[in-house]
Amino acid sequence: MFNPQSSESSMLTSREMLLITLETLPDALFVVDDATTIVYANASAQTMLGATREEVCGKPLWRCAPQLVSTALYQAVQKTTQTRVPSEVEYLSPVTQTWLHVQLAPTMGGLMVQVHQGRAAARREAPVPQDERLSIEDLNGLYSRVGVLTPEGIVLEINEVPLAEARVRREEVIGYPLVETRWWSCSPTSQEQLCAAIARASRGETVRFEAVVHLREGLDRHLEVAITPHRDAEHHIAYLVIASIDITERKRAEAELHALIDAIPQMVWTSQPDGSHDSFNQRWCDYTGLSTEEAQGEGWMQCLHPEDRPRVRTAWQRAVQTGGGYETELRLRQNTIGEYRWFLARAMPVRDETSQIIKWFGTSTDIEEKKRAEQQLKESRESLRVLTETVPQLVWVRRSDGLLEYVNQRYRDYTGLMLEQIQSDPWAYLQFFHPDDREGSRVLWQHALDTGDMYEHEQRLRNGQTGEYRWFLARAMPVRDERGQIIKWFGTSTDIEEKKRVEQQLKESREELRVLLETMPQLVWTTRPDGFLEYGNQHLLTYLNVPVEGVNGDQWLHFVHPDDRQKTWTVWQTQLRTGQSHEVEYRLREGKTGNYRWFLVRGIPFRDEQGHILKWFGTCTDIEDQKRTEEALRQSQERANVLMNSSIIGIFVGEGDQIVDANDTFLRMTGYTREDLRVGCINWMQMTPPEYLARTQQAQQELDAQQSLTPYEKEYVCKDGSRLPVLVGGALLQHHPFQVITFVLDNSARKELEQRKDDFISMASHELRNPLTALKLQTTLLHRQLTKQGLQASALSSMQTQINKLTRLVEDLLDVSKIQAGKLEYRQEAVDLDALLREIVDTMQQTHPSHTILVRGTVQAILLGDRDRLGQVFTNLLSNAIKYSPDAQTVEMDLSASPEEATIRVRDHGLGIPREQRDKIFDRFYRVTDSRKRGIPGLGMGLYIVGEIVNGHGGTITVDSDVGKGSTFQVTLPKKRDG
Ligand code: ADP
Repeated sequence: MFNPQSSESSMLTSREMLLITLETLPDALFVVDDATTIVYANASAQTMLGATREEVCGKPLWRCAPQLVSTALYQAVQKTTQTRVPSEVEYLSPVTQTWLHVQLAPTMGGLMVQVHQGRAAARREAPVPQDERLSIEDLNGLYSRVGVLTPEGIVLEINEVPLAEARVRREEVIGYPLVETRWWSCSPTSQEQLCAAIARASRGETVRFEAVVHLREGLDRHLEVAITPHRDAEHHIAYLVIASIDITERKRAEAELHALIDAIPQMVWTSQPDGSHDSFNQRWCDYTGLSTEEAQGEGWMQCLHPEDRPRVRTAWQRAVQTGGGYETELRLRQNTIGEYRWFLARAMPVRDETSQIIKWFGTSTDIEEKKRAEQQLKESRESLRVLTETVPQLVWVRRSDGLLEYVNQRYRDYTGLMLEQIQSDPWAYLQFFHPDDREGSRVLWQHALDTGDMYEHEQRLRNGQTGEYRWFLARAMPVRDERGQIIKWFGTSTDIEEKKRVEQQLKESREELRVLLETMPQLVWTTRPDGFLEYGNQHLLTYLNVPVEGVNGDQWLHFVHPDDRQKTWTVWQTQLRTGQSHEVEYRLREGKTGNYRWFLVRGIPFRDEQGHILKWFGTCTDIEDQKRTEEALRQSQERANVLMNSSIIGIFVGEGDQIVDANDTFLRMTGYTREDLRVGCINWMQMTPPEYLARTQQAQQELDAQQSLTPYEKEYVCKDGSRLPVLVGGALLQHHPFQVITFVLDNSARKELEQRKDDFISMASHELRNPLTALKLQTTLLHRQLTKQGLQASALSSMQTQINKLTRLVEDLLDVSKIQAGKLEYRQEAVDLDALLREIVDTMQQTHPSHTILVRGTVQAILLGDRDRLGQVFTNLLSNAIKYSPDAQTVEMDLSASPEEATIRVRDHGLGIPREQRDKIFDRFYRVTDSRKRGIPGLGMGLYIVGEIVNGHGGTITVDSDVGKGSTFQVTLPKKRDG
């Protein structure tokens, strides 16, 4: 017989299934009616509210769940209630300060409210279907009907329920085949099902099936039908019991359940007690891309990440075996080929009244975002850790009360700090600071702690090992919680020692530059890239006599000489346009005097690494003096050119023996051409005849010693071999120490004149000598005759003296002529010098009684030479000594000798000879013409002849004199060599 209780429990089970499904949800779920009164709250919701279901059901949602209340939610509830369209809302709970993601779906006569806490709320992918219904009350209701049939299907007995429902009388049914009753007969399919079932049951089988029957117009019922054969004692089939449960409501509830399950934002699935999955909600299918058929059994595992499969399978099997809860995290692939996302899978068993598991309900919640957030958090924690340990800074963390909580390794290494050391005193770390920086840091920290402002301070930290201090820039920022409360301070200290040093150097170099600019003798200025003058050094301002505002921009141009302005402006603009630096010379007005001075102006661009001009630096150098010098130089060059081009003086520049430049006059004088000059074949040394070499060398020595040359006479051999008498003077060129400029004066005219004079003297003296000789002879004869006649002939004597003087004069003139012509000849005879000198002294003493001639020593030497000529030497020297010492009484003669030579000194105590004239007295016709000597007669020939004779004998003559005290002439003559 049928058991109405079991039908009833079957219906209750469906409801329970729904409830369990809702209970397994990790999210809070409420069902409310249109008045927002809670009808149902799941376990998560109760946990969230901290109240039991009984305490909340029947009460307004708003009163029970103050943590959910918000305008956003209220509006969403109103909207969903009115429009019956599912919606969702995400907001920060004003009570708990957590993010809530609430999904709302309409139900029949109310709403389903699902609350997801935290940011990572899974997004609904499809709205909740509108026809979804939930009515717990509707699930109640059991309609059962029973009947007894013959094995052929004839109705034997039937209870009232189907009759009442079909509104037929019992007698209309009893005895008739059941299949022909109104409710069965109207549907051929149901009829067929029933026929087949009756047939099988009559063969001894208990048959169950579901079918739809039509009770009356507008009333169809879904029945679960069981036909049980009952046997008699003989085991024959006696009758069949047909029991039907009206499962119309259950079917409807199941349909609704599935719709609901499909509406739940989680993926929901169910499983058989043996663990074989049998149904999946739409969301699950949509996500995985598998149909229920494909996923059934273990088919769902294909969308499980391969790495997760063994673990998940084991966990699921254990749950199925033990009947405990199932909860695991797993990755499910989207759309069979897509990416895997993390899900939290949970399942709970549904048990019947005997605690037998009849079903498993499971959900899979997308926790990808949460996982990712967790992963990110983990990574960012790790990153932070690595970062703090790898950054080149010292990193530290202080608690909100200021106590150091963490320092990185670098910090510990540098300071040598142990955290324990300083954990009790927030200011203990100051011990690592330079004493001068401690107070500043403390004050700033206190300020930061009080206000929450960023902390920033430059401070010197001591290196724990070396004890040296280095500059650090410390910065700290507070980390706040969601309410804005400071949790801790993160700080870094960056080593800025180098930066500081560079800054200092920069400061110093700026200062140096400034000092340099101000001390530079130049006027210095700088402009912007566009040429706008923005700085002028003090010199510039002082010179122009204006403040810097008076020159900046383009105003400086007013100080430029009007004649130079156009040129200056053009050059400056070109310079700015091309970026090339140029030099320009212009006149600038001196502010105080109004005078213009010449300046050389240079502007140089200062560029950055990309080559862009940042500034122009410029200097104005005063070149007024230089300009003047240049002008003077130009003039002197002009004069030099005139000189060079003079047709009177020959000029050449010699380098060594070589003539490197010469004027036309010199070339014309010597017969050389400019081409000869160019090829470098004119050599003045080679042009010098041998007899002038000695004099020339002497002149060179003078030049070396005095940088200039007293003009002297010489001859040059011209290109054609002829001789040119010249007067030569010269000087070393100042800037070319190896170059000598030589001035050459053609001396041939004078020389010719001199020659003629010499010729005349020679001729005249010859012409005079003969009549004089005759005169002298005749007077001598006359003197003899008169003496014989005993007559006084004193007049004749004085006449003879004058004739002798005249003869002496003519002799001297002749000698000079001979010397000039190179015709003075010496006899070679042995001369006893002592005897010769005695003889001369005796004669001189007789003729010059005014002075006493003292002779000291002897030479005891025999010389080889001309006795008369040598006598002439000493006669001359003694006669001069007497003549030029009119106030003296003595003239001395000192004789001495060495093995090689004899030395004769003639000394007087007379007038002396000025130093500058001592060399010249041996020149022909030279006479010293001072006032005292003017009265002393002479022609300047004596010493000239003396010098020639001494030289002619291989000797030397020198003079030593003291003006006013006397002179000493020293003659040295070589002795005759034996053999
Ligand atoms: P002079 O006929 O004029 O004496 P000398 O050739 O003998 O010519 O001398 C040249 C010049 O040297 C003289 O004019 C004289 O000024 C100077 N002189 C020569 N000997 C002496 C001397 N002993 N004391 C001073 N002056 C002398």
